[in-house]
Amino acid sequence: MSKEELLKKLEKELLENTSLPLRESNLVLGEGNINCDVLFIGEAPGKREDELKRPFVGRSGRLLDKLIEAIGWKREDVYITNIVKRRPPMNRDPLPEEIEAYRPYLTRQIDIINPKIIATLGRFSMNYFIPTAKITKDQGKIFRIGNGKLLIPLFHPAAGLRSTEMLKKLTESFFKLPLIVKKHKALIQEKPSHEEIMGSNIQENLL
Ligand code: URA
Repeated sequence: MSKEELLKKLEKELLENTSLPLRESNLVLGEGNINCDVLFIGEAPGKREDELKRPFVGRSGRLLDKLIEAIGWKREDVYITNIVKRRPPMNRDPLPEEIEAYRPYLTRQIDIINPKIIATLGRFSMNYFIPTAKITKDQGKIFRIGNGKLLIPLFHPAAGLRSTEMLKKLTESFFKLPLIVKKHKALIQEKPSHEEIMGSNIQENLL
């Protein structure tokens, strides 16, 4: 099956699974280039995303688009999704059980798209991959997460909209992305085992 077909199948299964939480909201699977180098993963859809069934199309999305364009890319070059595929009521934080319920679907989505780099947006998405990481300490660092993939935790764009200091850090970290893509091969080979490097900061090796 092609990537498109596999994603369609995944979407169908998500729609048909009546045991999933947040079923009162629309499904927002994600969108973008399924052959991307970089996959952005946010938290959960908000109001606008729920209405349009598209990820990051509200205020945070506009900032995300601006940042993508600032580094010379287009939104269509990357793929954008969330850990939780439906909007929590009143935009509250996703609950651990909601994150767990959608986990097998996100895992499959990542396997299908198979990006080189995962850029997480916000702490929920970062902690999904690296439970011990702390967003203020670890944003902008580069982690090897196995399977030839690198992960860079970024502040959530909503945090960038709230604070100029966070926006500055988010922007700085964003500007590392083209170089990480370029050096991906070298970066994943520097140390032999996944365990050895899990959680380690390899930023110095890169820049
Ligand atoms: N915030 C998120 O985390 N995801 C979206 O899709 C929109 C806003």
